[in-house]
Amino acid sequence: MSSRSRRHKRPFKACRKCKLLVPLEEERCPNCGSTDFTEEWEGMLIVIDPEESRLAQALGITKPGKYAIRVR
Ligand SMILES: [Zn+2]
Repeated sequence: MSSRSRRHKRPFKACRKCKLLVPLEEERCPNCGSTDFTEEWEGMLIVIDPEESRLAQALGITKPGKYAIRVR
């Protein structure tokens, strides 16, 4: 038996400033306007209502969207 490591290509990259996840082809963060992105991120947080989510508040998220929990 051979064990192959499957490489999972992520369809998103994360904004280093606000942690918003955007498609790879996006050039500018629609949330904060930053162009500083990384594909090295962990954990996805989908925020629907930032005021009701403690985790969103802890991460400083103020707008609904998909966010990375950790960005390297
Ligand atoms: Zn951003």
